[in-house]
Amino acid sequence: MKIEITRATSEQLKKKPAPGAGVGFGQIFTDHMFLMDYEEGKGWLNPRIQPYGPLSLDPAALVFHYGQEVFEGLKAYRWQDGDIYLFRPRLNYERLNRSARTLCMPTVDVEDMLEATRKLVWLERDWVPSEPGLSLYLRPNMIAVEAALGVRVSAKYLFYIIATPVGAYDARGFDPVGVYVAEEYTRGPAGQGEAKTRGNYAVGLLAHQEAHRLGFNQVLWLDGMEGRYVEEVGTSNIFFRLDDELITPSLTGTILPGITRDSVIHIARHWGLKVAERRISIDEVIVAIERGRLKEVFATGTATVITPVGRLAYSGKTYVINGGKTGSLAQELHDYLVGIQYGIIRDPHGWMERGV
Ligand SMILES: *Cc1c(COP(=O)(O)O)cnc(C)c1O
Repeated sequence: MKIEITRATSEQLKKKPAPGAGVGFGQIFTDHMFLMDYEEGKGWLNPRIQPYGPLSLDPAALVFHYGQEVFEGLKAYRWQDGDIYLFRPRLNYERLNRSARTLCMPTVDVEDMLEATRKLVWLERDWVPSEPGLSLYLRPNMIAVEAALGVRVSAKYLFYIIATPVGAYDARGFDPVGVYVAEEYTRGPAGQGEAKTRGNYAVGLLAHQEAHRLGFNQVLWLDGMEGRYVEEVGTSNIFFRLDDELITPSLTGTILPGITRDSVIHIARHWGLKVAERRISIDEVIVAIERGRLKEVFATGTATVITPVGRLAYSGKTYVINGGKTGSLAQELHDYLVGIQYGIIRDPHGWMERGV
């Protein structure tokens, strides 16, 4: 793939955050972005990197009206020797393609996209933070840009990748969160829960606001059909340590197949732990808490890696998990995964790929 590069002029270059200044999550964007266009019958055209800036879109672009959009999220990590690595980036583009198929959108060439990602990371290498815990978050995004108001599949798309230096997703760090079981809200009975697409997030906002109002950090979603089975927490996958078994909801079509989820399952099995992917009802969780069998609960995702859950509110009661503290398994998984991502622990799984 021939990527045309237009570099930002010296006036366009932004000031990078000073080390230690704190970068938040997705608040500052780098100097460049990757873009390419799609036209039905022609395929992907004009792969290019240009200065970061606003997009010019027709107000009738189909994405604004009927939500044909898919995205991804992955990180570039700077190792102590200065080299930059990506964590299982192929899986992000493979998942982007599965999400795209769900929304009748064109797929991308995974190898080309890895090349585009590396080119962008290379150009923005000085934006990849060297402080521990920080990284450069990459957000590939595909949107329907054909101007039309009829409900139908767009014939034109825009794909782009933007980048932002990020700290820990949650400013509170690695402290356990409180989750609120959404009983009166669902994300819909079938929907597109296994696709990373914007509709899944917009429908969650109201419940999230409600959870916040009640003093909780995240929403725990139950399935939309029966309102019984645990699906995800916020926009992360969820794990329960019940006695000495790790349980995570199976991928039934309404749950996002997280790459962190997959990695945690792999690591836990590698460590000899029993891991089950199965349906788990909220009643089973509550009974396990009452019997003292539920040792730990944690969420997984690229942004936060592992988020321990310390409180769970359901049906008017708030249950404390593991004394409200981070569990030992959550801590070990976090340290191991982060250790691999930052090159501190040798990667026996072949997960890290050179970023430039
Ligand atoms: C992105 C995402 C996850 C986590 O996936 P990772 O690949 O681990 O980052 C989980 N649930 C939802 C809804 C997501 O959007």
